[in-house]
Amino acid sequence: MCGISAYASSKPRNFVESAKTVLTLLIELQHRGQEAAGIASVDATTGDVRVVRKELLILDLLFEFLRESKDFTGEVFGCIGHTRYSTSGSYGASLAQPVAIGDRRFRIVLAFNGNIVNYRELHEFARSIAPEVAPKAENDTEALAQAVYALSKEEGWDVVEALRRLPEYVIGAYSIVAITSEPRLVAARDPRGFRPLSYSFNGSEVFVASETSALQVLDLEWREVREGEIISFDGRSLEVSKASVTAEPIPCIFEYVYFSRPDSYFNGISIYNTRIRMGESLAKVMPVDADVVMPVPDSARPMAIGYSMASGIPFGEGLVANKYVGRVFISMPNWRDTLSRFKYGVIKHTVNMRRVVLVDDSIVRGTTMSYLTSKIRRAGAREVHVRIASPPFRCPCFMGIDVASRKELIAWSKSSVDEIRQTLGVDSLAYNTIENLVSSVGLPKVCHACFSCSYRFFGLSVDELEKMSSGRSACVGSHTHTQV
Ligand code: SF4
Repeated sequence: MCGISAYASSKPRNFVESAKTVLTLLIELQHRGQEAAGIASVDATTGDVRVVRKELLILDLLFEFLRESKDFTGEVFGCIGHTRYSTSGSYGASLAQPVAIGDRRFRIVLAFNGNIVNYRELHEFARSIAPEVAPKAENDTEALAQAVYALSKEEGWDVVEALRRLPEYVIGAYSIVAITSEPRLVAARDPRGFRPLSYSFNGSEVFVASETSALQVLDLEWREVREGEIISFDGRSLEVSKASVTAEPIPCIFEYVYFSRPDSYFNGISIYNTRIRMGESLAKVMPVDADVVMPVPDSARPMAIGYSMASGIPFGEGLVANKYVGRVFISMPNWRDTLSRFKYGVIKHTVNMRRVVLVDDSIVRGTTMSYLTSKIRRAGAREVHVRIASPPFRCPCFMGIDVASRKELIAWSKSSVDEIRQTLGVDSLAYNTIENLVSSVGLPKVCHACFSCSYRFFGLSVDELEKMSSGRSACVGSHTHTQV
């Protein structure tokens, strides 16, 4: 999971103005990644590429960028941006995006959200067509950029045709934004449509963002990029084409559970309403006698509201999340434990001498939930009942969330729900069912592999996928401000 954004206009714009637009969109996507951020552009006349990548939150990058803006001159066709949540390679800025690839003949800057399982194969394949472009490192972003470059070369420098063919070679998930030196802005989603992507076009400007909420905040009319679709803007017109292969769409159900903002829409479905339905169904299948229903803020709030509405138990805010700490789940592993301890405060008035139902979206590693329940007990709760709006998270994701191994998952390492309950030290623990989760979304098919451990859509077992992705690869170098 990462956030990506892009902007291009029919008239070349000052680099700083174009970058500000992309960073403004990216600020609304900060929840999708907080390790590093970057922007890239292609000069409107020279085709030169400029990349700025830093280990900063987007707002800080914007402020720093504006302070240094006297150094940034020239007019650009457009910019792309990225906020990083790493799922492969090292953590932090060293593998930040966007990446640039190519030479005077054809250049491309690219950023993506997702994860490429067979990136080593993709490197091999790209090298066989375009040995002249050596990637800076062996990782999925560089492999994707190299493959798009190589396929463009094979297609007579036609990047749209390259993106049409890309799914023939990729095992994994991607939503891409890229700008070429032609110049052309392209945005594409893989045919299974794991990750979201949306855009707005007003006749002369194109705005692209991972989630609709970023476009909504700017009061832009939006449309989602459909699974397997490629959007292309050359400064004159916007064209939409389809990938050369089709597949059954299986969007990530975890976008509805946790990743996406509640004010976003994914496949035309409101994230907020879906979370309410998840809470309602949870209350029906896993009722409990209690005095107050409270959420683990923020993503579980609509689920707790749904639970409260369906059960009749009053809703209350009992936990306060320090927003400046960011999202613990997507923070770097060496920080997760510390952040879990200090992120939340308890409102004693809500919990003291009461039987509490604590609703959360999911339990992945169990770190945060352990700290929370012991804090709630120390604040005087008589009973603590935990209700989880999704089923036990039992298997890794190979499509864009950072769970490299089953051993990290509490539902995998413990033999039963009761054993997890004992580890958390709570009076009762219950999860929602896959059937309820899927019907809350309302789509015919979704990916729920992290709950069901079924990766049949790739025709591979979890062991084969783990072997192919084989954890986090080494990276080469750090590029915080380059001109290529
Ligand atoms: S495995 Fe889980 S997190 Fe990964 S794409 Fe599927 S539903 Fe989403």
